[in-house]
Amino acid sequence: MKKPFANARKLEEIACEFGTPFHLYDESGIRRNARALRKAFAWNSGFKEYFAVKATPNPSILEILKEEGCGVDCSSYTELMLAERSDFYGADIMFSSNATPEEDFRLAAKLDATINLDDITHIDVLKQAIGYIPETISCRYNPGGIMELSNGVMDNPGDAKYGFTYAQLAEGFRRLKSLGVKTFGLHSFLVSNALTELYYPQLAEVLFKTAVRLSEDTGCRVKFINLSGGIGIPYRPEQKAVDIDNVGEGVRQMYENILIPAGMGDAAVFTELGRYMLAPYGCLVATALREKHIYKEYIGLDACAADLMRPAMYGAYHHITVNGKENDPAIKKYDITGSLCENNDKFAIDRMLPEITPGDLIIIHDTGAHGYAMGYNYNGKLKSKELLLREDGSVELIRRAETPDDYFATLNF
Ligand SMILES: *Cc1c(COP(=O)(O)O)cnc(C)c1O
Repeated sequence: MKKPFANARKLEEIACEFGTPFHLYDESGIRRNARALRKAFAWNSGFKEYFAVKATPNPSILEILKEEGCGVDCSSYTELMLAERSDFYGADIMFSSNATPEEDFRLAAKLDATINLDDITHIDVLKQAIGYIPETISCRYNPGGIMELSNGVMDNPGDAKYGFTYAQLAEGFRRLKSLGVKTFGLHSFLVSNALTELYYPQLAEVLFKTAVRLSEDTGCRVKFINLSGGIGIPYRPEQKAVDIDNVGEGVRQMYENILIPAGMGDAAVFTELGRYMLAPYGCLVATALREKHIYKEYIGLDACAADLMRPAMYGAYHHITVNGKENDPAIKKYDITGSLCENNDKFAIDRMLPEITPGDLIIIHDTGAHGYAMGYNYNGKLKSKELLLREDGSVELIRRAETPDDYFATLNF
């Protein structure tokens, strides 16, 4: 059974004090998980997690992760600004973007971030934008084809817009070397929300072998290998969380088998996890506002896809519990909806739940990553607030809800 990280009474109190809807984050869960990740990769002295800012772009969250030794992975100008304002600088910032505007490269260079190029043509774009090529550069690899794991096809890199081909990597590395690059990195992101412990080890195998081959073909030494994001979390109650120690151990074995014999045992391993770092440590709490009985049974919430887009956008499953009714039998079949004029604005379809009455608090689980962040303003809906449950049990407002003034701020009358 999936339980919220705060008990029913606590959630009731928070809802009374702050009003619904809100995203609530769990400081102690975030810290515990970040520590477990570090421990799993402690065998690599250069290991660093660069939290993917896009997953949960809130400075209070970034501060917690910073205290746990994480850097940040940014993908845009505004995310770079957020990193700067949260006091990240230099090697603590990874900049992994695509179709990158020149001004984004300029800000990344100003912050001395590690730039991860998405394409061979970006070498010239970067040189044009900032007038030089930094001594440390990373390149994103797209191996093409299909990523297969023992449990089936995971994804289709050949269809993805990201990264260099191998031939482009070899040419790009030579070119970058001639432009003064001293430290090379290699990055790849092949699968999203992977729940198998084999994903990272298998990706590590691809990247480690590619690093060795690049060193042979170009004489350029790869000093860091970025396994990027992609480790998944069990959104469904019957799914099992990955054992991060096994993941770290699987990567270590590849490192020992491939990099050490090639004399590359000084390479650092980086990650850019987003979902794995935050998703389970956030939930969206809403109030059941209306009930409706037509051809199906509906419960309409005071939250909508503007607060959590994943179900509407990907048909993603998010577990739902009714506060205080966790142990009641799931005897009613509901569609749990928001109020958008869009029939895909449903947090759950045909979900068996305890009987819900208007006023009940509805908890939508695992919204800590790619939740609030993906929100939008369709139908003039305003995005919810974000709250942080501190380790001492206190609750902090870390982002207020949007107001009509925010909605009108970009308009001319
Ligand atoms: C989105 C993204 C991540 C994080 O992905 P998760 O699935 O949340 O782990 C990491 N790196 C890059 C470049 C990304 O675009």
